[in-house]
Amino acid sequence: MIGPAGFMAAPKLVSEPEPVYCKCCRCRHTHMRRDRIRQPSRRFGAGWSELACPSCGSRLHFEIDRAEHEAAEAKRARKAAKRVAQSKRGAE
Ligand SMILES: [Zn+2]
Repeated sequence: MIGPAGFMAAPKLVSEPEPVYCKCCRCRHTHMRRDRIRQPSRRFGAGWSELACPSCGSRLHFEIDRAEHEAAEAKRARKAAKRVAQSKRGAE
Protein backbone atom coordinates (compact mmCIF):
# COMPACT_ATOMS: atom_id res chain seq x y z
CA MET A 1 0.00 0.00 0.00
CA ILE A 2 1.30 3.40 -0.85
CA GLY A 3 0.77 5.88 1.91
CA PRO A 4 0.90 9.62 1.78
CA ALA A 5 4.57 9.53 2.83
CA GLY A 6 5.85 10.24 -0.65
CA PHE A 7 3.67 13.26 -0.86
CA MET A 8 4.70 14.40 2.60
CA ALA A 9 8.42 13.89 1.91
CA ALA A 10 8.56 16.76 -0.51
CA PRO A 11 7.02 19.68 1.24
CA LYS A 12 6.71 22.73 -0.88
CA LEU A 13 8.87 25.54 0.30
CA VAL A 14 6.34 28.05 1.39
CA SER A 15 7.69 31.48 0.79
CA GLU A 16 6.87 33.44 3.87
CA PRO A 17 5.60 36.92 3.50
CA GLU A 18 7.80 39.59 4.95
CA PRO A 19 7.65 39.15 8.72
CA VAL A 20 6.00 41.83 10.75
CA TYR A 21 7.95 43.02 13.73
CA CYS A 22 6.38 44.25 16.92
CA LYS A 23 7.62 46.14 19.90
CA CYS A 24 5.93 45.72 23.24
CA CYS A 25 4.72 48.91 24.89
CA ARG A 26 5.25 47.51 28.35
CA CYS A 27 8.62 45.71 28.34
CA ARG A 28 10.05 47.10 25.06
CA HIS A 29 10.68 43.57 23.85
CA THR A 30 10.93 43.37 20.07
CA HIS A 31 9.78 40.22 18.33
CA MET A 32 8.12 38.90 15.22
CA ARG A 33 4.37 39.00 15.09
CA ARG A 34 4.25 35.23 14.53
CA ASP A 35 6.17 34.79 17.81
CA ARG A 36 3.42 36.45 19.75
CA ILE A 37 1.59 34.09 22.09
CA ARG A 38 -2.12 33.40 22.08
CA GLN A 39 -3.89 34.03 25.31
CA PRO A 40 -7.56 33.99 26.22
CA SER A 41 -9.19 37.30 25.64
CA ARG A 42 -10.47 39.21 28.61
CA ARG A 43 -12.28 41.65 26.39
CA PHE A 44 -14.27 39.20 24.29
CA GLY A 45 -14.55 36.35 26.76
CA ALA A 46 -14.26 32.58 26.40
CA GLY A 47 -13.53 31.20 22.95
CA TRP A 48 -11.62 34.25 21.88
CA SER A 49 -7.90 34.61 21.96
CA GLU A 50 -5.62 37.53 21.48
CA LEU A 51 -1.98 37.81 20.61
CA ALA A 52 0.30 38.92 23.39
CA CYS A 53 3.95 39.70 24.00
CA PRO A 54 5.96 36.47 24.46
CA SER A 55 8.00 38.19 27.14
CA CYS A 56 5.51 39.86 29.46
CA GLY A 57 2.08 38.92 28.08
CA SER A 58 1.01 42.47 27.36
CA ARG A 59 -1.32 42.98 24.43
CA LEU A 60 -0.17 46.54 23.89
CA HIS A 61 2.37 46.82 21.14
CA PHE A 62 3.17 48.75 18.03
CA GLU A 63 4.58 47.59 14.77
CA ILE A 64 8.11 48.49 13.83
CA ASP A 65 10.04 47.97 10.64
CA ARG A 66 12.83 45.52 10.12
CA ALA A 67 15.64 48.07 10.51
CA GLU A 68 14.25 49.16 13.84
CA HIS A 69 13.98 45.57 14.99
CA GLU A 70 17.57 44.83 13.97
CA ALA A 71 18.79 47.95 15.73
CA ALA A 72 17.03 46.83 18.89
CA GLU A 73 18.52 43.33 18.57
CA ALA A 74 22.02 44.76 18.07
CA LYS A 75 21.58 46.96 21.10
CA ARG A 76 20.50 43.99 23.16
CA ALA A 77 23.46 41.94 21.91
CA ARG A 78 25.86 44.73 22.82
CA LYS A 79 24.34 44.92 26.27
CA ALA A 80 24.63 41.16 26.71
CA ALA A 81 28.26 41.20 25.56
CA LYS A 82 28.99 43.95 28.05
CA ARG A 83 27.38 41.93 30.83
CA VAL A 84 29.49 38.89 29.93
CA ALA A 85 32.67 40.97 29.88
CA GLN A 86 31.79 42.45 33.23
CA SER A 87 31.02 39.10 34.82
CA LYS A 88 34.28 37.71 33.43
CA ARG A 89 36.21 40.54 34.98
CA GLY A 90 34.40 39.99 38.23
CA ALA A 91 35.30 36.29 38.25
CA GLU A 92 38.99 36.93 37.83
ZN1 LIG B 1 6.23 42.72 26.69
